[in-house]
Amino acid sequence: MKFTPEKYTIEDISGEPFIDVQEIENLISNTISTPEKVREVIAKSLSKQRLNLQDTAVLVNAKDPELIEEIKQGAKTLKETIYGNRIVLFAPLYIGNKCINNCEYCGFKSSNKDALRKTLSDAEIVKEVEALEDNGQKRLILVYGEHPHYSPDYIAHTVKLVYGVKKGHGEIRRVNINAAPMDVEGFKTVKEAGIGTYQIFQETYHPEAYAKYHLGGVKKDYANRLVSLDRAMEAGIDDVGIGALFGLHDWRFEVLSLVRHTNHLEACFNVGPHTISFPRLQDASMINRDARYLVSDEDFTQLVAILRLAVPYTGMILTARENEKIRKEVLHYGVSQIDGGTKIELGNYAQEDTKNQVQDLNREQFKINDDRSLAQVIDELLDDSYLPSFCTACYRLGRTGEHFMEFSVPGFIKRYCSANAILTLAEYIEDYAQPSTAEKGWKVIDKQLEDLEAYQRVEEIKNRIERIKAGERDLYF
Ligand code: SAM
Ligand code: SF4
Repeated sequence: MKFTPEKYTIEDISGEPFIDVQEIENLISNTISTPEKVREVIAKSLSKQRLNLQDTAVLVNAKDPELIEEIKQGAKTLKETIYGNRIVLFAPLYIGNKCINNCEYCGFKSSNKDALRKTLSDAEIVKEVEALEDNGQKRLILVYGEHPHYSPDYIAHTVKLVYGVKKGHGEIRRVNINAAPMDVEGFKTVKEAGIGTYQIFQETYHPEAYAKYHLGGVKKDYANRLVSLDRAMEAGIDDVGIGALFGLHDWRFEVLSLVRHTNHLEACFNVGPHTISFPRLQDASMINRDARYLVSDEDFTQLVAILRLAVPYTGMILTARENEKIRKEVLHYGVSQIDGGTKIELGNYAQEDTKNQVQDLNREQFKINDDRSLAQVIDELLDDSYLPSFCTACYRLGRTGEHFMEFSVPGFIKRYCSANAILTLAEYIEDYAQPSTAEKGWKVIDKQLEDLEAYQRVEEIKNRIERIKAGERDLYF
């Protein structure tokens, strides 16, 4: 599939800032959102075309509740017809919260003297990973503050350490990172350690708002952060995750900017973001939230649906910042990855005494709103007929750009994604599930196999399930 490049006031050049505030604000102010236009844009997305900025402006300007409902239904149809019912699961692992920056919204900011600073020792990292493996996790994202201690070499060391931890049938098969921007050499170092996705959020794409929230440290350089993924790409990391922290500035501006960022990556590197994240600002130790831009649940669900329609080939991540109800709702609108069993207090996965694990904002970056265990999340996904997946096959087989292939290569999902989701769920059931969850899990697998019946590989999938029952692990297509 080829994307037609748009014409912008700022040309896309690798390493050069690409956000033109006036251009985006004009689009928001001047685009009229009639029912006909909204329907045309939804139809364009459903015919598997990427939306341009103008189309996206039509959707962000829709105000009529019925039209907003049509946008959500459009996103739901797109998700169901293209991606089916798989949901990929992961967990964040906070490695260290020392930080030289002073991001107004973050509990780790340098001016927060109440924050308890900690960097996990190697032994503690191993313990955390063992505890995560005991729960059945296979995919982690390691998270770091910004500090000289967390150099590319140190990050690479922690990534390799995590891959090396094996307990019983447990192992981590994909390690993503969310860390401060690096130079090209630094990115090469973490790539060599075998990271999956490098994820970084621009927080706000609006330069003035950005300046207001980032008063100290290196992060105050807006442009450096904006083009950091260009450097990652130049270092050979073509698997990158973008995001904005919703609540710092007008959500419409951020949505258009995320699309503009996607266009920039496509224009410069011929590959868009692997994932888009849309964290919503949460309460944290010592922060003042500016109520003007806080995003309501209605706007939040609308913006998730719009992003699904606008960049239909990308993975969409939703974290435990959101409560269970919102998480359930936006799963319909295209979210493809969620965390389960999340603990963001450093060292808490390995804490046996879970009763005493009350949330303490001085130990955490922000407050989370979904504290369900991975087992509960999986059980409830199965109740809702989703297919939980721990698949890591594409990345390990060097099939990069898998979301794009899922989207654009006919039959790819049946051939690889559904099959691998079934196999990883079968492993989870065998190794970690309670009997009642196991029963639900096998039912979902049987139903999935029925749906794949006409498909030639189904016998091979069944055969591999038997091999998993007999004790083999890590079988994938
Ligand atoms: N220090 C690195 C950085 O700033 O890029 C690592 C990221 S930080 C530990 C992870 C992300 O958490 C930030 O990029 C930000 O979007 C988000 N975050 C910070 N404070 C938050 C808050 N109060 N509520 C929700 N998300 C927050
Ligand atoms: Fe540090 Fe990142 Fe928090 Fe900013 S968002 S204070 S850089 S941990």
